[in-house]
Amino acid sequence: VVRPLEGRVALVTGASSGIGEATALALAEAGAAVAIGARRTDRLADLAQRLEGQGARVLVLDLDVTDEQACTDAVARTRAELGGLDVLVNDAGVMLLGTVVGADTEDWRRMLHTNVLGLMYMTHAAVEGMVEQGSGDVVNVSSVAGRQARKGAGVYNASKWAVNAFSESLRQEVTTRGVRIGLVEPGAVATELTDHITQPEAKAASKKMAAEMTPLQADDIARAVVYMVSQPRHVAVNEILVRPTDQE
Ligand code: NDP
Repeated sequence: VVRPLEGRVALVTGASSGIGEATALALAEAGAAVAIGARRTDRLADLAQRLEGQGARVLVLDLDVTDEQACTDAVARTRAELGGLDVLVNDAGVMLLGTVVGADTEDWRRMLHTNVLGLMYMTHAAVEGMVEQGSGDVVNVSSVAGRQARKGAGVYNASKWAVNAFSESLRQEVTTRGVRIGLVEPGAVATELTDHITQPEAKAASKKMAAEMTPLQADDIARAVVYMVSQPRHVAVNEILVRPTDQE
């Protein structure tokens, strides 16, 4: 068995569900030690058992990415307890779709705080050490929604646009110092993401759209993340867009 990430340490946010959970499993299968962060620590404890069952070293992090101190602590604990930090996967996110007219602006604050500021706090906490060690990977989970704006998705679109802009700017800042910044942009993936939508019409539309196609599975995206971070050091896969074949 080839284990390209043997000896490396990864931290995955949003690991309690969906793409983050699948990514933690795939990184461990590829040989990495993994720190898994999210707010639902009961689910992380279950995942930790599965990861340990695969022989991985694991650290469970009680992590709300909207709390900057918690982000700093998560990175520090990973370095202290797993011996370093080579790969950060910023997966934690919410997609509270809805029209602008009639929106509950609390949805906007949650999306921007989690998808944008949370990702920035985590990256800020992790990237300086990566620059010091002259290597590292930050993988930001963006979306098709970061490249294509749609009616009824404006603030989610804005959050993922922000992720893309931040990632490209940071890439230029650190790439010559050995730190790779990558974007993974999924289309529709079967996860719990749509469950949290608060606008009833938007939730129904989103469920309907998902039912009309064969969506991706979380592992389809996890494989893209592993591909990105398993390349030789001189190869930076900057961006991977993955859609279900039948998604227009
Ligand atoms: P899920 O809802 O299944 O998973 C979301 C994860 O984010 C959960 O683990 C959740 O954990 C975590 N999370 C949410 N808020 C916070 C927070 N404040 N602090 C820490 N963790 C948080 O959805 P997906 O797996 O689908 O979503 C993962 C990422 O993929 C998101 O960034 C999403 O935008 C992106 N994406 C998903 C697509 C899809 O179709 N599913 C398409 C394109 C992109 P907890 O609640 O325990 O904190």
